[in-house]
Amino acid sequence: MDIINILLHIDINNLKTFNMAIYAFIAIGFVIFIVLFFLTAPYGGRHTSTTWGPLVSSRTGWLFMEIPASLLFAIYYIMSTEKANPVLIVFFIIWQSHYFHRAFIFPFYIKSKAKMPLTVAMMGLTFNSVNTYIQGAWLFIFAPIYTYTNAWFTSPQFIIGVIVFYSGYIINKNADSILKALRDKTQNGYEIPYGGLYNFISCPNYFGEIIEWIGWAILTWSFAGAAFAFWTIANLAPRALANHKWYLSHFENYPKDRKALIPYLF
Ligand code: NDP
Repeated sequence: MDIINILLHIDINNLKTFNMAIYAFIAIGFVIFIVLFFLTAPYGGRHTSTTWGPLVSSRTGWLFMEIPASLLFAIYYIMSTEKANPVLIVFFIIWQSHYFHRAFIFPFYIKSKAKMPLTVAMMGLTFNSVNTYIQGAWLFIFAPIYTYTNAWFTSPQFIIGVIVFYSGYIINKNADSILKALRDKTQNGYEIPYGGLYNFISCPNYFGEIIEWIGWAILTWSFAGAAFAFWTIANLAPRALANHKWYLSHFENYPKDRKALIPYLF
């Protein structure tokens, strides 16, 4: 049977197929994780490259990459037969508290003059579309009806997950706002960031982001959520290392005890 025939016969509404898709998603994430230790994604003023094809502004790139995560999730929610379920409504609000901001506020909030290759923006768009499908499909299509009843609100998973998610959220937003202040101050240049977790690590924005999605995996207690948390680590751990090395090679006075991503450890 040729590949087209196989693809045509895949039943995406089948939970087994869905879980297989998540395994494939994780496997691709693992490959990306390894590749990114050898090849730094060419976006942001420090790492961008003209060898990846036409460039777009950072703002356009971020809008392009992140809008599907907010919009598609809203579409999956609206299409759900379970949209009056209070737990799903809260999941929707939690997701959008990150992605509405990332898609519609963050691209205007950062004043980066850097450019990014369109190919990178397209990869980001593909990742966000697939990941949003996985999260949305699990919550709004596949999760058995008895999983997310009102009792979920008092479960340890939900309570711990929400605390973890919003701890990461605060760390991420705080780090982003320190960088924004530096970007406003230096225009195109770079300075050593200080304050908050910057006193311990080079990339608290990524640290916060990773904690957020670990929180999401816990609060939804789902394979889909765990896959997303894994992807976030796979994407951001190598990036944190690249940024950390960049700081060390550009600033002689860079704090020597500062780690890349995890305070005191890595
Ligand atoms: P960066 O740290 O590369 O840059 C963020 C902004 O701060 C940019 O405008 C950048 O300018 C500026 N900046 C960074 N460092 C300095 C400095 N030392 N001095 C002055 N200005 C500086 O972050 P990313 O763009 O990689 O990420 C932005 C957000 O998106 C983060 O919150 C991150 O967690 C999230 N993200 C999430 C991903 C995921 O997989 N879920 C993937 C990637 C990002 P310039 O552009 O000019 O370099």
